[in-house]
Amino acid sequence: MNKREGSPLLLIATYNDGKVKDLQELLEGTGIELIMPAQIDLNLDVVEDGHTYAENATKKAVAFARASGLISLADDSGLEVAALGGAPGLYSARYGAQQGGKLSDAERCAVLIRNLQGKPRPWTARFYAVIAIALPDGETHSAEGFCDGEIIPEERGAGGFGYDPIFLMPELGKTMAELTMEEKNRLSHRARAVMNAKGFLRVLLSKSG
Ligand code: IMP
Repeated sequence: MNKREGSPLLLIATYNDGKVKDLQELLEGTGIELIMPAQIDLNLDVVEDGHTYAENATKKAVAFARASGLISLADDSGLEVAALGGAPGLYSARYGAQQGGKLSDAERCAVLIRNLQGKPRPWTARFYAVIAIALPDGETHSAEGFCDGEIIPEERGAGGFGYDPIFLMPELGKTMAELTMEEKNRLSHRARAVMNAKGFLRVLLSKSG
C-alpha cells in the first residue's frame, strides 16, 4: 500500500459498493486518503446485532480499527416507513430474505411495495444513517443524519443503490436514484451524517499525522 505523502489514512469499514461510492464523493477534497478493506486484504464479517444504528456502526468501526491498526469509518443505515411501523429499519439490508439468505436490491424494493399494498398513501419514509469513527485504541465517535421522503409503487431512476429508486423526495419531484451525485451528496441522510462527523474526523486525523 503506497501512502500519499502527508495524507492521513482512513479505512472505510464496508463492503457495500453503494456506500463506498457515496463516501468517496463525500470525503473528496478533505485531503484524507481512503483505504478499502480489500487493499489490505481485510475480510471481516461483523454481526450487526445492535439495537440501534449507532451500536451497529460503532461495532463495525471498532472491529475494523482493531484488526487494521487504522482509524476506521463505518456507516449503519436504514429506511423507516411509517405505515410499516418503522420497518425495515435496522433490518433494511436483510429485509424480505429467508434465514441466512439475501435478496437483490430490486427484490427488496418489490417486497417493500408488496407489504405496503392497501395502506393509504402517501407512504412517508425516512432514511437514517449513523457514521461511526473508531481509533485502534478503542476511542469512538459517531454522528447521524436523516432524510425525509415517501415510497412510490414503481422504481424510477438508474443511480444510487438499495431503496433509492422507490424513495421520492417530494420537494424535488425526483427519487433518490434520479438525483445527480452532487444532489444526493448534499441532501442524503449519509451526506448529513458525514457533514456532522467532519469536525471530529478532522481533529482525529490531524493527530494521526
Ligand atoms: P447496513 O447499514 O449495512 O445495515 O445496510 C443498510 C441498508 O439500508 C442497505 O443495504 C440498503 O438496503 C439501505 N440503505 C442505506 N442507505 C441507503 C441509501 O443511501 N440508498 C438506498 N438504500 C440505502
